[in-house]
Amino acid sequence: MTINIVLAGPRGRMGTEAIKMITNEEKFNLVACIDRKNDGKTLNEINQVCDEAIPIFENATTCFKEIKPDVFIDLTIPDVGFKHTKLALTQQVCSVVGTSGLSDEQIGELAIIAERNQTGCIIAPNFALGAVLLMLFSKMAAKYFPDVEIIEKHHDQKIDAPSGTALKTIDMINQTRHKKQQGHPEEFEILKGSRGGEVDGIRVHSMRLPGLVAHQEVVFGSKSQLLTLKHDSFHRESFMDGLKLAIEKSVQLKKLVYGLEHVMELD
Ligand code: NAP
Repeated sequence: MTINIVLAGPRGRMGTEAIKMITNEEKFNLVACIDRKNDGKTLNEINQVCDEAIPIFENATTCFKEIKPDVFIDLTIPDVGFKHTKLALTQQVCSVVGTSGLSDEQIGELAIIAERNQTGCIIAPNFALGAVLLMLFSKMAAKYFPDVEIIEKHHDQKIDAPSGTALKTIDMINQTRHKKQQGHPEEFEILKGSRGGEVDGIRVHSMRLPGLVAHQEVVFGSKSQLLTLKHDSFHRESFMDGLKLAIEKSVQLKKLVYGLEHVMELD
């Protein structure tokens, strides 16, 4: 079965890589793009990675109504991704959201809409399969190593911090970690922010530099030992196997799932 796809964010770095992957996959068919610029133009006029005359829409509602795709992919910014995905799910278009930074409230609202419309939706803070495994391994380790901090490093054009992957990692760690107060009880910061952000007592440190793509270290500390789990994405190509899997699995779902681990075969 061919899966007809609409993609939002075709000029972005992730969007460009996704177009390459989709147009090289026999079972995928890119049928339209949503872009806040270039309404009425075709993809081959604006993007060198594609020589096909795929229509571009500025208005997502018009796009979904006219094109009726099987799957919608969002690779833009949080509020735009939320708006697009809400529209797609309302029109029973399965959705794959790679855009990071959606709030818990937004994810909750999308989950309700997906369920109501019996439509699949996968929100994946990280499409890199290695990063998903890192999160799962962190969940395993946290049961025995409750003292943990996260260091996440991304390119300097990333607008949200900490990364969706770091937040999702904490979420997974919390499923097995016994709550505990980490560090010195009277710890204080001489320089505000030196100890990073904090979620449920777990510290997250975010680095933004040119040259980086997406990297995360989860460091567990215990008596005379450290366990460091580390994953690096060196190129956006690293996200494409996971995006491909999410597209294939989204059409089999009738609800929203948050995290690729829910659709990966892990046994
Ligand atoms: P990017 O290169 O900055 O591309 C963002 C795209 O969104 C551009 O096409 C941009 O168009 C569009 N956009 C920005 N503001 C918009 C608006 N108000 N309305 C409509 N479109 C708008 O970013 P990227 O590196 O491709 O990343 C895209 C998203 O994917 C980010 O949320 C990023 O965190 C996430 N990401 C996810 C993964 C994953 O594995 N899930 C991996 C990497 C990145 P303009 O040029 O007009 O601004």
